Amino acid sequence: MFEATEDLAGFRQDLRRFVRQHLPDELRQSVRQGQQPTREQQTRWHELLAAQGLLVPHWPAKWGGRGWSVPQQMIYDEEMALGDAPELNSVTFDMIGPVLARYGNPEQQQRFLPAIASGRQWWCQGYSEPNAGSDLASVATRAERDGDDYVINGAKIWTSYAQYADWIFALVRTDREVKPQAGISFVLIDMKAPGITVRPIVGIHGWVVFNEVFFDNVRTPVTLRVGEENQGWTLAKSLLEFERLKLARIGENKRRMARAREVGLTRTRGGRRVADLPWFRERFAELHARLIALEANAGRFVARQAAGEKLGAEVSMLKMRGSRLIQLWEELTVDALGAEAMPLAQDWLLGTPGAAPRDALAGTASSRRFLGRGYTIAGGSSEIQHNILAKQVLGL
Ligand SMILES: Cc1cc2nc3c(=O)[nH]c(=O)nc-3n(C[C@H](O)[C@H](O)[C@H](O)COP(=O)(O)OP(=O)(O)OC[C@H]3O[C@@H](n4cnc5c(N)ncnc54)[C@H](O)[C@@H]3O)c2cc1C
Repeated sequence: MFEATEDLAGFRQDLRRFVRQHLPDELRQSVRQGQQPTREQQTRWHELLAAQGLLVPHWPAKWGGRGWSVPQQMIYDEEMALGDAPELNSVTFDMIGPVLARYGNPEQQQRFLPAIASGRQWWCQGYSEPNAGSDLASVATRAERDGDDYVINGAKIWTSYAQYADWIFALVRTDREVKPQAGISFVLIDMKAPGITVRPIVGIHGWVVFNEVFFDNVRTPVTLRVGEENQGWTLAKSLLEFERLKLARIGENKRRMARAREVGLTRTRGGRRVADLPWFRERFAELHARLIALEANAGRFVARQAAGEKLGAEVSMLKMRGSRLIQLWEELTVDALGAEAMPLAQDWLLGTPGAAPRDALAGTASSRRFLGRGYTIAGGSSEIQHNILAKQVLGL
């Protein structure tokens, strides 16, 4: 079991050593090069973390967590990212786990929380629909009571990793007569239930992240509704509360900064190291400064939370800035690689006399840049964050 010391600097060092010693090398290499880990690789890592009490340290102790403070959690995220560990599935560990720990009934908690904390059970989030994204209150997937079950019909879209998931938590409409927010319930559905079809969507990046999920007379017991019927909207919103501070994505930004630096140090242009070229240095320095500012800003909110104060709507700026910064790092990496980052560059470069075969880092750079596009859309788009800041903070 990993021992968490009180002293934050020592805690950071211990975590760094832990990741260096325990992260399987094959997984480290594939993450470092920006490849998509398999479910099996990820699950093995989850199990290893779980055995050390490091998979869900932010959960309450009763459910296998360690009640870590927010600064400890942020250091944990950073060290995992900097050590090239894969990003953990936030839907499973940061969303449904904490929601069940707070709002689930004892049967639901007993049934699901130990399985999630073991690292073997995967969840996906069924919120968005073709006509309900930013306007989530428009969800139209219906759930009708039939004896002890709900019978569910409709479709979800952009469901990340539904192809791997064992369970889905979904927002469904249980009352069509009331105002939209008042007629939604939050239900848990077994992905193996008859009537569910998962259709993968291959993204522009070539990865299969998203899926469409269709429900055709799918049954789930009423006992698997979390909270009261028609009170799902409150739960839907509270889900996001659990990860508001994490949305600055400091660790993920540092991971990308390290990749951009590596590319700058290993590539040459016109006989000069890219890291020595003025345009690269200027852009790198600007993004680094933005990252330092983001970190300082996140620190203010961490201190507020530690003092028991409310975070307020202005915490939206962390999501907005952190997600945009990830995109800018990916763009810098692609620009620093130049033609080497082109999706078909392998053939093109190898056809050029004297050209070295490109490495995996270059081979995945374009995919990662396209993947980065999603950060300013998922979890509330930047336009929505702007609206929140304009209305609730600036009073416009
Ligand atoms: C990487 C990624 C992972 C995702 N994973 C999941 C998942 O696992 N489960 C899930 O349920 N969903 C998931 N989503 C979907 C995501 O929640 C939606 O894409 C998001 O809520 C936006 O909805 P939409 O795509 O329908 O766009 P729309 O809401 O149709 O928006 C289209 C455009 O209009 C803008 N816009 C919309 N309303 C306003 C407004 N009021 N003011 C100003 N501009 C506005 C938006 O910013 C956007 O630019 C994921 C998305 C991404 C990118």
